[in-house]
Amino acid sequence: MTEKRLFGTFGVRRTANDVLTPEFASRLAASYGSIVQGTVAIGGDTRTSTPMLKYAITVGLLSSGCDVVDLGILPTPAIQYAVRNYYDGGIIVTASHNPPKYNGLKFVDEFGIGTPDDMELEVERMYFDSEPNRVSWDKIGDCFTNQTIIKEYIAETLKRVDVEAIRNRKLKIVVDCGSGAGCFTAPYILKELGCEVTTINCQADGFFPGRDPEPIEPNLQDLIATVKNLGADIGLAHDGDADRTICIDEKGNFVLGDKTFALVEKQMLKENGGGIIVTTVATSQAIYDIAEEYNGEVIATAVGDLLVARKLKDTDGLFGGEENGGLIFPNFVYGRDAAMTVAKILEILVKEGKPLSELVAELPVYYQQKLKVECADDLKQEVMAKIADEINETTDFELDTTDGVKILKDDGWVIVRPSGTEPIFRCFAESDSQEKANEMAEWGISLVEKYKG
Ligand code: MG
Repeated sequence: MTEKRLFGTFGVRRTANDVLTPEFASRLAASYGSIVQGTVAIGGDTRTSTPMLKYAITVGLLSSGCDVVDLGILPTPAIQYAVRNYYDGGIIVTASHNPPKYNGLKFVDEFGIGTPDDMELEVERMYFDSEPNRVSWDKIGDCFTNQTIIKEYIAETLKRVDVEAIRNRKLKIVVDCGSGAGCFTAPYILKELGCEVTTINCQADGFFPGRDPEPIEPNLQDLIATVKNLGADIGLAHDGDADRTICIDEKGNFVLGDKTFALVEKQMLKENGGGIIVTTVATSQAIYDIAEEYNGEVIATAVGDLLVARKLKDTDGLFGGEENGGLIFPNFVYGRDAAMTVAKILEILVKEGKPLSELVAELPVYYQQKLKVECADDLKQEVMAKIADEINETTDFELDTTDGVKILKDDGWVIVRPSGTEPIFRCFAESDSQEKANEMAEWGISLVEKYKG
């Protein structure tokens, strides 16, 4: 495949007003608009640079003949929901979980799914090698606003769970939106669900004064302490654009994303009597174990939430997700959805009548190790080919080359994947003991080192 020059795994992410200038954003939006030729929804997160970039992409889109509908500040999945139902395309201004100086542009197709590779290459070709289609004066687009999408997104989320059952339990909840786009949805959804809500960092602020927007354990210490102090049933946290939800159990334990994924998978399969589950090759064996027990079928894609979303659409899948806790409910939004994840987790707590720590403890247990090793970009393909050759010739382990090289042994697996953005390989192993997981990850690293010269 042709190497992409601008786009990463989901859109373009750069330092705001340094690399990601208004001129850059405007030309890129005009290139995208030249291909879409329709009505494009735009919206974004709470970053200081978001209004500037929204104006920039607006003029780019208008000059390519597209009409523009500004949806305001709202979560990424709310924009994806709106595009799928009402518009021909969308541009989301966000840098997700990255620090405040960054911003980005996520482009989606008419289904609200991150744009496919061939479309991104076409946008890049127009950006670098030719000119966006600048329409004549009488074809320039119009600007509109739509302030109703947040309300609709909240209402549609609530429609998909048993609101009465959750209301009756009067759950005690602490929610930390990290001053991101979730401030405009999460507290309101929890109120509608009859919860006793305590908010942390739920005032929108592009400086993210309370915590870094990435919802990892070191950044969630205030949330953890508050859950413990208040004796809450659960703590919830979102990233900057509120497409991911992280849970803290009633004891204050950080629940890993793959546990949340497994928990919801189990419930979805139980409720629906089975179905197709889509995930990536880097996801836990637990997902397969649960699928086997509850009549599910697992399909694994290369790493990337938009690949999972597209596969869910193509296979009419039931549910999907990634090991980082990005969960996709394809009957609602073709992308990771934090609000739906919250609603579903609360429904599970209520229906199962058990505390979150207990529900997590019932899931299959595996141990993981993640390591990385440097490797020059131009050697990556050769290294992967040589590792695959060695495994094929000297062992009878199963190989999966959907993304990088995944080696499956009887008691676990290791995947060696080249980073798309840095000169490194990431090596991720899983097994039934921590020691074995460590050993397998180190073995993966040693294979890269052997062949990188
Ligand atoms: Mg995000």
